[in-house]
Amino acid sequence: MNAQTIAVHLPDGAIREVPAGTTPLEIANSISPRLAAACVVARLTPLGGAKEIAAAQEHGSEAAMYGAEDAAAPRLVDLTTPLIADTKLELVKETDPEALKVVRHSAAHVLATAVLELFPETKLGHGPATDAGFFYDFHRAKPFTPEDLALIQAKMAEVVARDDKFVREYEPREQALTEFDRDGDFMKTHFVTKFTAPGDEVSFYRNGKFVDFCRGPHVPSTGRVKAVKITSLAGAYWLGDEKNPQLQRIYGTAFFSQKAMDEHFARLEEAAKRDHRLLGKQLDLFSIQEIAGAGLIFWHPKGGIIRKIMEDWMREECLRRGYSLVFTPHVMRRELWKISGHEGFYSGNMYTPMELDDAEYRLKPMNCPGHILIYKNSPRSYRDLPVRLAELGNVYRYERSGTMHGLLRVRGFTQDDAHIFCTPGQIEDEVVACIDFAEAVLKTFGFLEFQVELSTWDPNDRAHYAGSDDNWNLAVSGLKNALERKGIAYKTIPGEAAFYGPKIDIKLVDVLGRLWQLSTVQFDFNLPARFELEYVGEDGERHQPVMVHRALFGSVERFFGVLIEHYAGAFPLWLAPVQVGLVPISERHHEYAKKVEAELKAAGLRVEVDDRNEKMNGKIRDFANQKTPYILVFGDKEQEAGAVSVRTRGKGDQGSMPLAEFIAKAKALVAGQSTEL
Ligand SMILES: [Zn+2]
Ligand SMILES: [Zn+2]
Repeated sequence: MNAQTIAVHLPDGAIREVPAGTTPLEIANSISPRLAAACVVARLTPLGGAKEIAAAQEHGSEAAMYGAEDAAAPRLVDLTTPLIADTKLELVKETDPEALKVVRHSAAHVLATAVLELFPETKLGHGPATDAGFFYDFHRAKPFTPEDLALIQAKMAEVVARDDKFVREYEPREQALTEFDRDGDFMKTHFVTKFTAPGDEVSFYRNGKFVDFCRGPHVPSTGRVKAVKITSLAGAYWLGDEKNPQLQRIYGTAFFSQKAMDEHFARLEEAAKRDHRLLGKQLDLFSIQEIAGAGLIFWHPKGGIIRKIMEDWMREECLRRGYSLVFTPHVMRRELWKISGHEGFYSGNMYTPMELDDAEYRLKPMNCPGHILIYKNSPRSYRDLPVRLAELGNVYRYERSGTMHGLLRVRGFTQDDAHIFCTPGQIEDEVVACIDFAEAVLKTFGFLEFQVELSTWDPNDRAHYAGSDDNWNLAVSGLKNALERKGIAYKTIPGEAAFYGPKIDIKLVDVLGRLWQLSTVQFDFNLPARFELEYVGEDGERHQPVMVHRALFGSVERFFGVLIEHYAGAFPLWLAPVQVGLVPISERHHEYAKKVEAELKAAGLRVEVDDRNEKMNGKIRDFANQKTPYILVFGDKEQEAGAVSVRTRGKGDQGSMPLAEFIAKAKALVAGQSTEL
């Protein structure tokens, strides 16, 4: 190909031959000016000798600026980036999820612009996009006040209204460092030193007078940041070290439209109403008590009954699906954790050892070594495999103080843990069975949608992984085949596997569309080797079994937290701690209340009678506040007819019904684990 001409491959298959130096914006404009106006950035996938082309494409050695990057991987660039080598080109519009990150990072520049215009003495840290928005770290002797934040917010609106172009500029590294040093920009000096090499040209972005060290990409101009809002302010130490100066981190979020931002805040409001910590208190489900310690959960009677139902269901299913139930100790000798390797690579997450008379002991952070000891306690032949050992095992892991979050992040929890020991030939069927089981968990507990990720190794980084090539290939193809047999769409994430084996992660999608990582099916080539696990094969020789860790609730505590938020505390009938609330209208109906209570209990339903001397409406309100699925009200009329007046959660007064009919209906809903009432 002529050096002056490059081939740009568009998503529709068209190939454009254009002069080198043509920009994505020019190509967009040649297709349609409307398209050009709608674009945010461009996604390039270099073609041909990827490394050389990437080197040519990027200015200086900037690819190294923020750490190593796969030169052949798709990357986002500004619309004004000159194309100088053959490439695939995709014009990225506002609807692309990655575009949101670009506008949010651009909003961080808008924020920093506003801060410097109002408080020029401020020194800048960095301002990345995050999952929820963006932040920027600032250093300033005086903390920002709420009034300052209001001023900054107003100034940001001005910066957006100016619609200044984001322009990329370059400067020799040594010059940039000299200037940052001179201005006391200690954080910028740090970033440039860390992310660039001597002799580099350093990349900056300018909007108006504001310039920031940055590799981009950015939206074309500040006017594209249509909706931006400061959300909070927090202190943070520079580089996370409390000996360093304290920074002020301003958080915000940004969207391409006010409508999208309004929807975002409406969702947050809905999520706040569903916060499991709030509902846990309101519905008296669980508590965390300061005197006992952070991250340790107390299950109250109403949470306890839900847990019992979850655990009973899980144990029954395990037995039905060919698992054996086991129980293993909570503390075990330190020696064991040395063999398992936890002492080495997991020590930071373990409670410190305790000295007992004969040896040192440690609380278990995982159940695996316990199950392995049970496997190892008997000679095993291929006829015994697969061995599936399951336990609702309590584990204790150290989480840094300040990182705990209700039931979602704790220091003590219960895994619905199982370990499957099998032959390589059994892998695929076992994985299919695990996925079936995981689907059953999600469906039963009311989650209709889920996403699956397959984490595999990076064969180019062989030294990093335990286990033979054969093992890895078998396990990865076992996982893949299993997913394909099940017809489940999944995303492969190369290089994301743990060093000891590939895994499948199943993320459920809750009613607000949030993703929760709970179920995992994880291969392990490391522990069977460390514990020298064996079975005698058909050939009479000793072989090492394949081992799979799998947890489906993940953590019972965390799953419960997700359940509370998913249902906003209004649990389906089969899970509700109190299924039926009884409201006798006056004292003379208390006898009948006892009879109704006895019949409901005999039918296996959980009942609570409110026989206080209160007004009927007050009693109904109290049950309703507890999100009780059914409230049965009765007076003379119902008593005579052997009936009850039924109020159904979410549906209101359903009128009178013979008691026997109500019981039959409720029993059927419970038996069917129905989410309807
Ligand atoms: Zn930037
Ligand atoms: Zn395990």
